[in-house]
Amino acid sequence: HHALTLDGVTREYRPGVLALHPIHLTVPRGRFLAVMGPSGCGKSTLLQCAAGLDRPTAGTVRIGGTQLSSLNEAALTRLRRERIGFVFQAHHLVPSLSVAENVALPLMLGGESPGDRHLRALAAVGLGDRGGAMPPELSGGQCQRVAVARALVTTPDIVFADEPTGALDPAAAEEVLTLLRQAVDHDGHTVVMVTHDPFAAAWADEALFLTRGKLVGRQERPEAADIRR
Ligand code: ADP
Ligand code: ADP
Repeated sequence: HHALTLDGVTREYRPGVLALHPIHLTVPRGRFLAVMGPSGCGKSTLLQCAAGLDRPTAGTVRIGGTQLSSLNEAALTRLRRERIGFVFQAHHLVPSLSVAENVALPLMLGGESPGDRHLRALAAVGLGDRGGAMPPELSGGQCQRVAVARALVTTPDIVFADEPTGALDPAAAEEVLTLLRQAVDHDGHTVVMVTHDPFAAAWADEALFLTRGKLVGRQERPEAADIRR
C-alpha cells in the first residue's frame, strides 16, 4: 500500500464553490512531498482532507490502504493518533508537561507504555539531554524539534507538516527541515509538507503546485531558485 492515496477528492464549503477540484494523488512510502501554492489555493483543505480532519465532499482518501470514509469518528480519531504524525506551524506542546512527557503523550494516549521510545525519539532530534526541561525553557526552534519527535514517536504511516518552518528563523528552519529529511532518508518515513516557502520546498523530493483548488504542476527534485512564489 502507498502511504497516501487521494482519488478524486473534492471539497465544497458552499454549494457550487469548490475549494478542491477532483484531486488525484499518490504518495509512496519513503517520500518527502511539498505542496505549494498561494494563500487561499486550498493547501489547508487538502491537508485536512488527507489527514482525516475534514471529510471530503466526494472522492476517497486512503492512509496505508485504509479508506478513511469507511471509518466512524472513533476509528478515525484512533487512526489519526496511531498512524499519522502532525507538525504544525506552532509547536502546540503542552506547557505543563516536560519535554519528554510531551513526546511520550501520543503513545500514552494510545494506551501504550512508552518504554524508552520517547527518549530515543528525542535523541534523534538532538535533544536527548533536554527531556526534563519544560517547553517554555526551550527556544522556538527547539520546541519545533520536540514537535517533530512527537510526530515520529508512533512510527506513523505518514507525517503531515503544515508550514512547519513558518514561525522559525532561517537557521532553526534548516534544522527542522534537516530532521524531516533524515526521517525520510534514514528511517523510511513519509512526509507531506505544506509550505509557501521555496527554500523549505527545496528539501522535498517533489513539489506539487496548487492553484485555486487544482493541482497545476509538479517538479521532481525542486530547487529553490526554480520555484516561483
Ligand atoms: P490555503 O491553505 O491554501 O490558504 P484553504 O484551504 O485555507 O487555502 O482555503 C481554500 C479556499 O476555501 C479559500 O477560498 C477559503 O476561503 C475557502 N475555505 C477554507 N476553509 C473554509 C471554511 N471552513 N468555510 C468556507 N470556506 C472555506
Ligand atoms: P543557495 O542557492 O544559496 O545554495 P538554496 O536554496 O540551494 O540556496 O538552499 C538554502 C539552504 O538550504 C542551503 O544551506 C542549502 O544547503 C539548504 N538546502 C536547500 N535544499 C536542500 C536540499 N534539498 N537538501 C539539503 N539541503 C538543502
